[in-house]
Amino acid sequence: MKVDLTGALNSMLQKTIKEYRAADECGDTRSARTKALECAGLLEQIAQSSPGQREIYMKRAQEWRVIAGQVEARGSGKVVESAGTGENEFLTYAESLIATTPVRWGDIGGLENVKRLMMETIVIAGLSKPESIKPWKGILLFGPPGTGKTLLAAAAAGSLNATFFDVKADRVLSKYFGESSKMVSGLYAAARMHSPSIVFVDEFDALSQSRGGDTSEATRKLLSTLLTELDGLQDKKSGQLLLTLAATNTPWDLDPAVLSRFPRRIYVTLPDPEACCEILKIHTKDLDCSSLDLGALGAHCVENLYSGRDIQNLCQQAIWHMIREENTNLHHLAELPFDELKERSLKVRGLCADDFDDAFENIRSPITRSDLQRYDEWMEKFGE
Ligand code: ADP
Repeated sequence: MKVDLTGALNSMLQKTIKEYRAADECGDTRSARTKALECAGLLEQIAQSSPGQREIYMKRAQEWRVIAGQVEARGSGKVVESAGTGENEFLTYAESLIATTPVRWGDIGGLENVKRLMMETIVIAGLSKPESIKPWKGILLFGPPGTGKTLLAAAAAGSLNATFFDVKADRVLSKYFGESSKMVSGLYAAARMHSPSIVFVDEFDALSQSRGGDTSEATRKLLSTLLTELDGLQDKKSGQLLLTLAATNTPWDLDPAVLSRFPRRIYVTLPDPEACCEILKIHTKDLDCSSLDLGALGAHCVENLYSGRDIQNLCQQAIWHMIREENTNLHHLAELPFDELKERSLKVRGLCADDFDDAFENIRSPITRSDLQRYDEWMEKFGE
């Protein structure tokens, strides 16, 4: 029986790339060189097990050998020829954005409709189909902060076992401003290489907004690269799954050209009472909640305009209230040696309504009713 090792080799590669970056960042040229060579070796092994993409992987392996040479030259004080940000660096940076995600659809409370739309999109992209049926290449997730947009993207990647690129647009822009269009090309090159891939671009509006008053040349270039990559994705190599999920809390800030590339726009709303109950259950699992009136708590969350994140914080505060009540002298135990600490266990009891009282007082939603109205209006005009 032939065993497919590419998955295992790819995760080793991702780990080694991270180790390379860590060594490089703290100036440990010796380890950085070793890690760069290990990356080259792993890519050569992946090339052997992926006949269809052998050349791409061999090219990448060669690039890592060049990086190893450059690191060595830097270590010995020689002048490195290709100073500045080389193509390799963009790929390496893109690969460092790969995140592992244990999230599954069941970890998300509510949002049934949104989950269904996303699952449909993914399934259509993956299935064999007549050429005239074009899958969506990107989905825009918009809605108030903390409503689960990142969670949805992570669940999409987690359930497909896809490579998850977690990109914070603002961070990339500030790190590579001026060169960020090369960064975008690097990102999509890496995503194609590690397909199936989900590229999740959070704070997507940052790419679209004008910086310092008017849209600069760099931002325009970045946007046009992004749009080209989005247009070309599925066509470059059929059979690859590469989906871009973009998230924003301020959809009205998006550039119309960008918006037109995301015809599928999904509103990720604040949770309704039922969803609040589900989220409460998710964030108190393992604890006895039998004496809680989840329906009443859920209704209170809706009244307070809580997002999933607010409910998570609420549960954390309620749990801490219970822990402090049950373990009055917890902080004294800090004087014990760790070995002795391990012998003891935290006292816990089931959660009760009292545990939530202070938490409800402390947690204030940043969202107002007029914000919600703005989302509703945008949804009506531009939404799915
Ligand atoms: P967004 O990307 O919309 O700002 P996130 O997905 O980062 O929000 O959510 C922040 C945190 O809030 C999550 O890590 C999760 O713990 C919690 N959360 C938000 N929405 C939900 C939900 N629908 N179900 C369960 N937990 C949620």
